[in-house]
Amino acid sequence: MDNLNLVKSKYKFNYEFKEEQKIIFNSVALENMHTFGVLPTGFGKSDCFVVPQLLVDEMYPEKNPHIGLVISPLRSLMLNQMTIWRERGVKAVSIMQLAEMSSIDIKNIIEGQYSVVFCSPESIVRDPWRTMLGNAHYKERLCLLACDEAHCIVEWGDDFRPSYKQVTVLRSLTTCPILVLTATATESMRQNILSTLLLDEEEVKTVAIVPDRPNIKLYYKSQSGMKIHEELLWYTQHIATFGSKAKKAIIYCRTMTQVADIYEFVMTELGDKAWSGDSHIIDNRLVDMFHSSIDADTEKKIVSVFPQTDSIIRCLITTIAFGMGVQINDVDHIIHWGASKTVLAYWQQVGRCARDGRIGQAHLYATKVSLNKRRISDDMLSLCKSLNSGACIRHSILKQLVVSGMDLHSLDVMAQRDPCVGAINDGSCTCEFSTCCSNCQKKCILSQI
Ligand SMILES: [Zn+2]
Ligand SMILES: [Zn+2]
Repeated sequence: MDNLNLVKSKYKFNYEFKEEQKIIFNSVALENMHTFGVLPTGFGKSDCFVVPQLLVDEMYPEKNPHIGLVISPLRSLMLNQMTIWRERGVKAVSIMQLAEMSSIDIKNIIEGQYSVVFCSPESIVRDPWRTMLGNAHYKERLCLLACDEAHCIVEWGDDFRPSYKQVTVLRSLTTCPILVLTATATESMRQNILSTLLLDEEEVKTVAIVPDRPNIKLYYKSQSGMKIHEELLWYTQHIATFGSKAKKAIIYCRTMTQVADIYEFVMTELGDKAWSGDSHIIDNRLVDMFHSSIDADTEKKIVSVFPQTDSIIRCLITTIAFGMGVQINDVDHIIHWGASKTVLAYWQQVGRCARDGRIGQAHLYATKVSLNKRRISDDMLSLCKSLNSGACIRHSILKQLVVSGMDLHSLDVMAQRDPCVGAINDGSCTCEFSTCCSNCQKKCILSQI
């Protein structure tokens, strides 16, 4: 049995690794290469953080177990990952705030007792953890430094969470390969991340997959005089009918005023049906709003309730402040009232839809005011223009998110689909045009009848 199969059976992987995952494992474990990966949600990113050091353990069994350090900006994800890997028999741990940790745990981590250490960018650049990286255990056995959600290094680096940018200092403390992973990036962002981490293009292997999310159907509408009262009726009627069983939606707006306006509209539209049950108390409300100025208690409540499958909140109206650091798997609809600032930001927000693989929908209402040149980037403006002329929404977005080294086969296939032959099932067509986007839909036989 080769080493990868040994790892597979030892740690109970009951599925096959994908080709791109194997390339990443080998790049880090065998070739000792710094590696940059773009792997869309659901592709098995987390295996890439852990399997390399399990492989190195098989290659050098005489040495003490190797250590991998995974820097993740999302606490909930870290804890979730720790639990999953522990269940598989991997000695995994998360570095929390010191006050939350036992002194035994701290000592064990420092002495290299764990083989996978998850940590936030804030903690790892401070002591005792920063000094820990220089101790003998880590110097000898650290075989991977991984950065999850690497787009945050450049997006958050300057203001939101500056520590992510300081991760650079770790470069002087370690010599192991660095693995940088993200679900979406642009080429300029890739270069920016590499230069922030002081990585030269020649010493980095890129493994990048077109960040498509085929389980999300895309809708686009842009007309002058669009009225929210008319455009969002399909969803408010849905909540009115299904109440606390309604499909979950996040409605993104560009400003706090818009959040308040849309909230007002949805609540008025729903009337008594905005609450589940008879009593109109806050805890029964199906709709809520979120922005950077809400009070801490409300924020805490939304962040803990909305991700739950049986959440009473079914519709969250928010600015872009919501989403970072919150893991929600069962959002059915992402609705944008107004175009996002950039194509990348738009796709990241869409990426919060249907993470568990369900069929989701993303609706972009590009209001006239949101298309003002001062409000959006050139790439978003030109995207919206091409969508007005009927281009495939998916293809138009994804071609803006190509990074050098990406395998573009799926984009080519998308651009050259065979005509619809009307594979009709349960009254709807299953062709790729009808499942892709509202512009492609028009090429489906069924919509032409
Ligand atoms: Zn399309
Ligand atoms: Zn069709």
